[in-house]
Amino acid sequence: MPEEVASNLYRIVVPLPDNPLKEINSYVITSGDRNLVIDTGMNRPECQEVLEAGLESLDVDLKRTDFIATHLHADHQGLISTLMTSSSKIYMGSLDSPSFRNNNDTWSKDGFMGDYARRSGFPVADLEASMQNHPGFKYSSAMNIDYIDLHEGDCFDVGEYHLEVIDTPGHTDGHICLYDADHKLFISGDHVLGDITPNIATWSDDADPLADYINSLQKVSQLEVDKCLPGHRSLIADFYERIDQLTKHHRERANEVLDILKQGNMSAYDIAARMTWSIRAKSWDDFPVMQRWFATGETIAHVIYLERQNLLHREVVEDLTIFESEKSVRL
Ligand SMILES: [Zn+2]
Repeated sequence: MPEEVASNLYRIVVPLPDNPLKEINSYVITSGDRNLVIDTGMNRPECQEVLEAGLESLDVDLKRTDFIATHLHADHQGLISTLMTSSSKIYMGSLDSPSFRNNNDTWSKDGFMGDYARRSGFPVADLEASMQNHPGFKYSSAMNIDYIDLHEGDCFDVGEYHLEVIDTPGHTDGHICLYDADHKLFISGDHVLGDITPNIATWSDDADPLADYINSLQKVSQLEVDKCLPGHRSLIADFYERIDQLTKHHRERANEVLDILKQGNMSAYDIAARMTWSIRAKSWDDFPVMQRWFATGETIAHVIYLERQNLLHREVVEDLTIFESEKSVRL
């Protein structure tokens, strides 16, 4: 059932079965005029049932309801196409919405992600399964949504709230958070999470999402926040302490990559196999294919971050990208 986490602002905890995230927080602001739903859960019946029941118990009239996805991932936008009405306005960060519109090729094993993964040492035999089981492929909203692009500084007045869009690239390029300065309230999407660390990953050499992420953490640490409402799990007790912990976590992970490379030069996939991960499995080979996929994407983000700081470099050997650390350095 919805929990009122601030005046007329409710959290509906939507389950994500068979997913390590376990659940997603959908936030609903009700008002006598328009309502706003921020993030929805995946496009699957288990999510739909809970979200619809929650909205119903709040007497939310979907004809008077708009939607914001903090970013493009399926657990955040999946149910928008199911719940929206012809009068709904649908918003997403301006850098995320185009990739959502143009992703015909994304889920082919020969598309840009599959190709990059293969060159990173990801087993070719597992590529097809990675695409077919990827939540983005299985559980996204239908593709015909006409998103309105959000930009830094855009504002929404909903009920008693005045929400400002804060660009927070890192978890995705177009990730946005929402900030209400008067209420010192921050809706953090997957930028700041309490019980788990946001996945920072890439399948492209054109981006340095970890550097973006650390800069975005620094950026939001300047805001006055009393209440932080994250996209997953429990509300965050100490916003600033959590930002410090997340920054430190990624520095340690980057150092772990450098330490692993002392064992020899290797691909991102082989580095990922040697990293410590918090999932319960006997060995790397026992990881479900999707967990190996996300772990490899996260490792790639870390090696690119280190490469851009000249702490390691790459060589391409027969279409396989191999990393070598510069010297025995640490961040
Ligand atoms: Zn996400």
